[in-house]
Amino acid sequence: MDLFEYQAKRLFGAHGIPVKLGEVARTPDEARAAAERIGCPVVVKAQVLTGGRGKAGGVKLAATPDDAAEKARTILGLDIKGHTVKLVLVDPAVDIATEIYVAITLDRAARRALIMASAEGGMDIEQVAVEKPEAIVRVHIDPAVGLQPYQLRQLAFGIGLPAPHHAAFADLVTRLHNVFEAADATLAEVNPLILTTAGEMLALDGKVTVDASALYRQGALAADRYDGDLTDAERAARDAGLNYVDLDGSIGCLVNGAGLAMASMDVIKLFGGEPANFLDIGGGAQADKVEKALRIILADARVKAVLINIFGGITRGDEVARGIVAALGNIATDVPFVVRIVGTNAEAAQTILADAKLHSGATLAEAAQKAVQLAAERGAA
Ligand code: GDP
Ligand code: MN
Repeated sequence: MDLFEYQAKRLFGAHGIPVKLGEVARTPDEARAAAERIGCPVVVKAQVLTGGRGKAGGVKLAATPDDAAEKARTILGLDIKGHTVKLVLVDPAVDIATEIYVAITLDRAARRALIMASAEGGMDIEQVAVEKPEAIVRVHIDPAVGLQPYQLRQLAFGIGLPAPHHAAFADLVTRLHNVFEAADATLAEVNPLILTTAGEMLALDGKVTVDASALYRQGALAADRYDGDLTDAERAARDAGLNYVDLDGSIGCLVNGAGLAMASMDVIKLFGGEPANFLDIGGGAQADKVEKALRIILADARVKAVLINIFGGITRGDEVARGIVAALGNIATDVPFVVRIVGTNAEAAQTILADAKLHSGATLAEAAQKAVQLAAERGAA
């Protein structure tokens, strides 16, 4: 889960990293008011979950509150790499002397956190990485002993940082590492980390990615999570603990396991149909979860048939079949269902499905073909 710059910098601030955080604004008027409170000049910055905002025209200096409103007007609504800007951050502007790059990321191959730093921070860091990789200093952190002072010196000397700034740099990187660990992050990046003309060190930008699997213990970050790009169905699914993605087709899919869900969608397409969604209900598909999933699927009026494909492993097939029948008893719908259950207790499942007069298929191909045919009979495009 990516954080917006303003969220990342708020987190930095809470961990004692020097930031100059202003206010977020949704409209030009809000940006003007924020600039008035903060004091000009300010910098108006697009808040989108992608990088390269500066180059895309999403970061602009403003000399007066009216100018801030004007800059906000040009930035709001901008499309940056497929992300529409709905929010800007109005920060106090600073005079930059030096732009440094520092980031901590999870190096999965090394099974360690990796700190990277470069004297050539700013908007061209990707280019530096490709053309001058030696300009990026890398230090791995041994999880058994943690970040060591000598490693901080290695980084500071490695990027040629003047000695008077070493202490501030070491402190900042230590705190960034605290953020990285405390937030269960897979990335904590400051680019640029700047020295102002007055010699002050500041995190001017912030990028933090929180491991989504750790959100259960990241209460505050999870609560502040941005979900404006999700559809209503996707939001409902997330709240129900379901792995769901809206698609455009007419055949609803309810599957246990992400791989099986992908395969089910492929087979639907193979027989000329189009899936209406991706849905992985996970293991232990109990009746209430099945019911929630079915309600989400059926809320989409484009759904003309539903394919339920369950592999009974630890989750017993008969239990799932009972869950489906119970769920359907609670939902009024005339959308036809085709159910395929294989694996543990598959025969018992078949009996339950047959008693409930549900369509079933012995193989995925047969079930998918039937679902495509039923959807077509009901006017699916
Ligand atoms: P990014 O392009 O998405 O990484 O956005 P950044 O927050 O890193 O901003 C891009 C660039 O804008 C920085 O590298 C700075 O050069 C410039 N910038 C951002 N804030 C200020 C500021 O307060 N004053 C000045 N002079 N430049 C700024
Ligand atoms: Mn940046």
